[in-house]
Amino acid sequence: MEFIYQPFLLEYKYPFGVSSNTRTHTQTVFTKISWEGFHGYGEACLPPYLGETLENTIHLFEKAKLILKKQTYPCSIAEIILEIDELGENNNAAKAAIDIALHDLKGKIENKSVQQLYKLQKKESAFTSCTIGIDTEENIKQKIFDASDFTILKIKAGTKDDKALINLIRKYTNKPLFVDVNQGWTDKYFALDMLGWFKEKGVVLVEQPLPVNQLDDMAWITSNNILPTIADENVKRLKDISKIKDAFTGINIKLMKCTGIKEAFEMIELAKELDLKIFLGCMAESSCGTSAMAQLMDCADYIDLDAPHLLKNDPFSGVRYEKGKIILDELPGIGANPKEKLF
Ligand code: MG
Repeated sequence: MEFIYQPFLLEYKYPFGVSSNTRTHTQTVFTKISWEGFHGYGEACLPPYLGETLENTIHLFEKAKLILKKQTYPCSIAEIILEIDELGENNNAAKAAIDIALHDLKGKIENKSVQQLYKLQKKESAFTSCTIGIDTEENIKQKIFDASDFTILKIKAGTKDDKALINLIRKYTNKPLFVDVNQGWTDKYFALDMLGWFKEKGVVLVEQPLPVNQLDDMAWITSNNILPTIADENVKRLKDISKIKDAFTGINIKLMKCTGIKEAFEMIELAKELDLKIFLGCMAESSCGTSAMAQLMDCADYIDLDAPHLLKNDPFSGVRYEKGKIILDELPGIGANPKEKLF
């Protein structure tokens, strides 16, 4: 192939209202970066609680367009991403949408999957948990039934009575559970007792039991070594890992928190050096963002990449679910493409 100078062109499509049975309405913006007939796709998933607005996301894309216009292939994705990162403090989902599209584009130009770009072991499937949100007993029973293919369930806890919640789950299933407390407890002694009780009930890990500002209490809980403890709200980006390394057993990495594949990979490398477990998570991404994260599944100790399974209107085809596993076909780039023309 002979390369002539042709700049990268960024386009975006919004708002795409992703809807599911279990999640609140989430706005999504899809990105497309094109070069010489190749198209790389990305996604910014904007759940309201993250505080990233559609307006700010579009604003960042407009600024990023100017940077991308100066680029052509071959290029260093890492250098482009660093320049875009300096455009502003926040907008992590918007940055991720550009990072994912750049990886997809580079993979498609070079006919390599992201796994190959990062020289990872080829991995086409892994067990993933399926999330059961807080709901009425009737709905929880239905959700457990709907998740009957899955071998691990993830429970959203942090309710007024988490023992009652787990007892309710145990009326309908004996599957191993990940429990996400979402910073719902404050007393470290109560938390430690709960972890012991959880363990008896077949819980295999607990995510973010205490608020982010209780790191000393969290370190004390983790030192008791009852269940693995996973940081979520306490770790967004690479720079956060060193602050929590003694307080948790592992970290939950999400592309929408960490600005994309490049930084997720750096987080994985640092976590491994520090002997922290790696949990790959997601917000409510479609098969676009979820396939991008699934490219890193060879590095994971735990996987919670169930979002496309819960979507009613996924505009991408990519990862699939079979017998509790997430399956990633070997394709160039992130392994996902729009089902119909999106742009
Ligand atoms: Mg969480």
